[in-house]
Amino acid sequence: MTELSPAQLERYSRQLLLKEVGGAGQLRLLQAQVVVVGAGGLGSSAACYLAAAGVGRLLIADDDRVELSNLQRQILHTTDRIGQAKTDSARQALYALNPEVEVIPFAARVTLATVDDLLRQGDLVLDGSDSFATRHLLNEACFRAGKPLISAAVLGFEGQLSTFRHGVDPQAPCYRCLYPHLPEPGATPTCRSAGVLGALTGILGAWQAAEAIKELLGVGDSLSGSLLLFNVLHGQVQRIRFGKNPACGVCAPG
Ligand SMILES: [Zn+2]
Repeated sequence: MTELSPAQLERYSRQLLLKEVGGAGQLRLLQAQVVVVGAGGLGSSAACYLAAAGVGRLLIADDDRVELSNLQRQILHTTDRIGQAKTDSARQALYALNPEVEVIPFAARVTLATVDDLLRQGDLVLDGSDSFATRHLLNEACFRAGKPLISAAVLGFEGQLSTFRHGVDPQAPCYRCLYPHLPEPGATPTCRSAGVLGALTGILGAWQAAEAIKELLGVGDSLSGSLLLFNVLHGQVQRIRFGKNPACGVCAPG
């Protein structure tokens, strides 16, 4: 594809007006491939905005089925799709939003055995998973694959978000630099046990999509080395800096 069709010029007109996007940027987005891990609250919001923006191929990884208790925040899914695989439900929703976008379902658990194969197919990875183990697994796999990772987590009224470029920039810190230890399973609260505000997952997922688009286009200031902390109950957003851990088990030289 070397030029935009009349329908594409109209569909993407409001972002084509942005000098950071323009026609060349839009063509780049249409050729881009993003891996979205988790079709839950974060992944729903992120995937909707990526598809709407015309990111050409979305690989959606999730091995769950839609449940009634998901619908308070997982806006890809609908009441009449309860019981369907989340990846199928996501594909239907994203196709309805933008039939130009190819949605590839990956309806298996993301494990050490499957992660490298999954990541090979993407230009970058967006982590909307709900477990520390998966976040660490993706952090290590992105280092091996040389892919940027945009990670977010939510609980209650609070969330956090960062971009990890350790796969593409030797100076950049990784998720393990920030969190050296994997907590014991069950030692930390989860959305299932402690609850979460649906709108918060929407905000962070949308912000992940914005960071992904910036990364794909190479524009703006990356969040690499910065952690955004959100508290919507108190209306606070903080940005804190963190550095590379010279003894990091993942990204330290050597
Ligand atoms: Zn590290």
